[in-house]
Amino acid sequence: MQISAPVFDIPPVTRDEFKQGLRLRRFLLASVFSVLYLVVLGVFCTQDKIDRQTLLHACAIVAAFIVVFFCLFRLGLNLRFPDPSLTGWQLLASVFTMLYVIYRAPDSRIAFTAFFFVAMMFGMLRHSGMKLALLGSVSLLSFAFVTGLRYANNRDTEMLRLDMLQVVVMAVTFPWFLFIGSCVKQLQRGLTEATIKLEDIEEKARRDDLTGVYNRRTLIAAMEESKQRADSTGEPLSICVIDLDFFKRYNDEFDHLTGDQVLRTFAQAVQDGLRATDIFGRYGGEEFVQILRHTTLAGAMADAERLRERISAFAIPTSRPIGPLTVSIGVAQYEPGETIIETFARADEALYKAKQRGRNRVEC
Ligand code: GH3
Ligand code: MG
Ligand code: MG
Repeated sequence: MQISAPVFDIPPVTRDEFKQGLRLRRFLLASVFSVLYLVVLGVFCTQDKIDRQTLLHACAIVAAFIVVFFCLFRLGLNLRFPDPSLTGWQLLASVFTMLYVIYRAPDSRIAFTAFFFVAMMFGMLRHSGMKLALLGSVSLLSFAFVTGLRYANNRDTEMLRLDMLQVVVMAVTFPWFLFIGSCVKQLQRGLTEATIKLEDIEEKARRDDLTGVYNRRTLIAAMEESKQRADSTGEPLSICVIDLDFFKRYNDEFDHLTGDQVLRTFAQAVQDGLRATDIFGRYGGEEFVQILRHTTLAGAMADAERLRERISAFAIPTSRPIGPLTVSIGVAQYEPGETIIETFARADEALYKAKQRGRNRVEC
C-alpha cells in the first residue's frame, strides 16, 4: 500500500515562508527575463541599432531594479504592499526600462512588442484581467507619449508614422491577448480547485471518520514507511498497540453514541499528548496504534506507562459514573530483518498478555 510520504513528516517550512520563497523565485525568473532583454539589446548594439551608451544605461537601470526588488523581498518589505508579489511594480519597471531605451534608440521598438507581451503574460499570473488591462493601457499610452516626445525633438514624420502603426497593432491585439489569457487563467483556477478538492479527499481517506485520527490503512503505510526509515538510518523504532479495557460496558450500560463519544474523547486526548515524530491512529474498534520513531523499547515502555497513567486519571463524561477508563498497552521494538507486521504482531501479543495479567497495564 502506498500513501504519500510527506504526510508523516513535520513540514520543514511554514506556509508564509513557502509563499515568500515562491515570490522570490518568481522574481528571480523575471530577473532572468530582464537579462535576456539586455542580451537582445547587446545583439542590436552589434548591428549598430542602438548605441553603447544606451546599452550601458539599460544595464544600469535593470541592475538597479533587480537590486531594489531583491532587497525588498529579502527584507520582507514586500509584505507591506497590497500585492506582496510586487508583480505590477516589476511589470511597470520593465516597461519603463524598455520605453527609456526606445526613446534613446527607436530601432529597439521591435524588441518592445515581444517583450511587452511576455511581461504582460508574467503579470497575468498574479493580476485580474481588469488590473492587467489598466497596466497594459498605461504602458501603451506611455509608449505613444514617448513616441510623441521624440517627434517633438526630431520632427521625423516617417518614424512617427511607423511608431503610431506599432501602437495601433499593439492596441488591437492586446484585448485579444487579455481574453485568451483570462481563458487560460480560468482553466488554471479550475485545475487548482480540483487539486485542492483532491487533496481534501485524500486527507479524509487517511482519517478515521469517527475519531479524526489516522485510520488503519494509513497506520499500515506509516508503519511500513517508518520501518524503511529505520532500516536506512539505523534509528530505533517501537510500536504500541493500545486497547481500551472493558469498553463494551459503555455500549451496554449506556448506548452506542456514548461509546462513540468515549472513543472520540480518548483519541483526542492521546493525539494532544503526541510528540511531533509520533504517529497515532485507530486500528479498528477500540484498538489504537502508536508508532514511536527514534524510540527504543525502554523509551516506548516509559511513554506507554505515562499514557496509561494519564488515561486512568482522565474523566470521561457519562450520564452516571462508571469507574475510570483504563487501557492495556502492548509494546514491541522493531528488530532489523523482521517485517513490520511481525513487530506489530509481537506488540499485539504483549497486549494480550497485559489483558491476561489483569488489564490497565503495559507489557512488552
Ligand atoms: P477488553 O478489555 O477485553 O478489551 O474488553 P472490551 O469490552 O474492551 O472488548 P470487546 O472486544 O469485548 O468489545 C469491544 C467492543 O467495542 C465491541 C464493539 O461493539 C465495540 N465497538 C467497536 N467499534 C465501535 C465503535 O465504533 N463504536 C462503538 N460505540 N462501539 C464500538
Ligand atoms: Mg477492549
Ligand atoms: Mg479490542
